[in-house]
Amino acid sequence: MLNQHVLVLNRLWQAVNVCTARRALTLLFQGHAQAVLDRNDGSFQTYSFNEWRDFSTQEPHAESVRSVSFRIRIPRVILLLVYDHMPKKEVKFTRHNIFERDKNTCQYCGKVLERKDLNLDHVLPRDRGGPTTWENIVCSCIECNTLKTNRTPQEAGMRLIRKPKRPKWRPFVQINFTLHQHDSWRHFIDLAYWNVELGEDV
Ligand SMILES: [Zn+2]
Repeated sequence: MLNQHVLVLNRLWQAVNVCTARRALTLLFQGHAQAVLDRNDGSFQTYSFNEWRDFSTQEPHAESVRSVSFRIRIPRVILLLVYDHMPKKEVKFTRHNIFERDKNTCQYCGKVLERKDLNLDHVLPRDRGGPTTWENIVCSCIECNTLKTNRTPQEAGMRLIRKPKRPKWRPFVQINFTLHQHDSWRHFIDLAYWNVELGEDV
């Protein structure tokens, strides 16, 4: 029970980590975190340790642990009061990450190929001032690259499948959510995924 997974939010209510129930209860007891309860109406209530202990007594729950003198419910989400920064996990501007973003797909003809059969193409050619940035570099097959030469897509009569952008920050790639995903987590994970953007690393 104490090894259950608890979602950790920072002070801005952004999901930053997953910890064990043991760690969550320690943080709660030390006053470093509050328990967050999904009220199932789109709102969330926070509880200090004492409030959470009283709540656990009033509304007994199967997911509880017993100490010498009281029973306490295991929270599914906690809100940190002390720790304020998101772990920085930037998507670096690398060849590998460009292939990842474009899913090994030529952005002109849509063929999915092995990386050795793909080039990186400057949409606005380099010799015409095209920068080497997330917005101007795409995966291209050798055939399309040869066809395009040093022209813009428009001049070459070609179309980009998608407008190249820098990828969004994905802070959760290392967490295995199949282990124990609660509905009350989803709200925060979706927010983190969609709303947090990375700075460009060029
Ligand atoms: Zn192609």
